[in-house]
Amino acid sequence: MALKLFNTLTRSLQEFAPSAADANKIGMYCCGPTVYDYAHIGNWRTFVFADLVRRTLEFFGHEVRHVMNITDVEDKIIKRVQEQKVSLREFTGRFEAAFFADLKTLNCLPPHLTPRATEHIPEIIALIEKLIARGVAYRAGDGSVYFSIAKYRGCGCTYGQLQKLNFDELRVGERVAADEYDKEAVADFALWKARVPADGAVFWPSPWGEGRPGWHIECSAMSMKALGESFDLHLGGEDLKFPHHEDEIAQSEGATGKPFVKHWLHAAHLLVEGKKMSKSLGNYFTLRDLLANGFTGREVRFLLLTAHYRETFNFTIEGLHGAKTALARIDECVGKLREVGAPASGPARSSAAVPAQPAGPDAGAPARLVADFSAALADDLNISAAWAAVFEWVRVTNKRLAENSLTAVAAAAALAEWEKVDAVLGVGARAAAEIPAEIEALLEARQAARKAKDFKQSDAIRDELKAKGWVIEDTPKGPKLKRF
Ligand SMILES: [Zn+2]
Repeated sequence: MALKLFNTLTRSLQEFAPSAADANKIGMYCCGPTVYDYAHIGNWRTFVFADLVRRTLEFFGHEVRHVMNITDVEDKIIKRVQEQKVSLREFTGRFEAAFFADLKTLNCLPPHLTPRATEHIPEIIALIEKLIARGVAYRAGDGSVYFSIAKYRGCGCTYGQLQKLNFDELRVGERVAADEYDKEAVADFALWKARVPADGAVFWPSPWGEGRPGWHIECSAMSMKALGESFDLHLGGEDLKFPHHEDEIAQSEGATGKPFVKHWLHAAHLLVEGKKMSKSLGNYFTLRDLLANGFTGREVRFLLLTAHYRETFNFTIEGLHGAKTALARIDECVGKLREVGAPASGPARSSAAVPAQPAGPDAGAPARLVADFSAALADDLNISAAWAAVFEWVRVTNKRLAENSLTAVAAAAALAEWEKVDAVLGVGARAAAEIPAEIEALLEARQAARKAKDFKQSDAIRDELKAKGWVIEDTPKGPKLKRF
């Protein structure tokens, strides 16, 4: 089945075909975090989206090389380093570690490579030298180096590939020094920023004097080093389209003369409780804020994965409660399938109870889960249709379980289907391993008390477990713990 994705570059839905030279291998670059604070839920929408894209490509049989940079030097970072009077590495190291911990909490697959900008200064300098040599960059009086939009356009190159820009106001040589600037400021942008007192100890030597790189050039240098001068896929949040991604294209194509990226994907904005997230409105959440409020990474991931990536998503606390309920439905269904589908073992179940069954007409999936799910994803990651396939499968499976019409073989086949699908969704079903050790120990103590016929003690432990939020269900295969 052909995977179709919306390409921002062509503004059209296109069949995703890796470039011939790479055969089935896909280079995928996603702009990573600027490590100056804990990532907020809007940032996480983009990173969970990138994880979905990677898992989908792998599901469709591609081999992906996933690169995500760490922006560990730019304007906001330098400002905070100066305020807090710590070293750059000490400051960024803290937020970088927190970022990777959060990435794990959200069950995002770790990228294969996570280059840091500060470890690529020689590559950045070499790229700027190339741009100067090609006549599209110049050194300003203060020792900073700028990219010349007029010279670049004069070579027949297009500035404004991802979004239409207005050049009427463009005055040749007008400059913007800040890493972040708005669409109205179409002007020469900084590749290298000459050292100023506010930079403190954050500077490197260069052919143009001491200074530091601009934010945009960092991504061009790191992505091309990791994936080559032309690669297949570049992702990011839509707020990065301009200027960041536009500048990445200009710097890369300006230096190599080759097309930079074949396919650009952008995730739309996220609102919280219907409004743009802001600290003053009280609707600003980091992942950590949500965990502190009793939600899990799995619930946050689920919720972020419910909306189509090109639609503005309204993230709400009510939505998180809904995620809890939806996941419980999946857990219940998958848990029962595991019971029915598990090979008979242990004293609680005689081997005659579930004879090996031949794969009859019932042995396949109870619903067309994998087929429907694949078709949904192939349609520009139509996640609503993908979830609809999952919950239809849950409904049909539950019905069959209730009717006792699923054989062990059919249940195992259904589980295998779920696992294929969950390799993309990454929400798993709550595994037995998630039961805390303390709770496991209480269960064992209760079993020991029952064995010794000390029912008073076993009842007391049952109550204690209940007080901690766990109930025991006695099943033919032994006691099972369930959270309520
Ligand atoms: Zn970037």
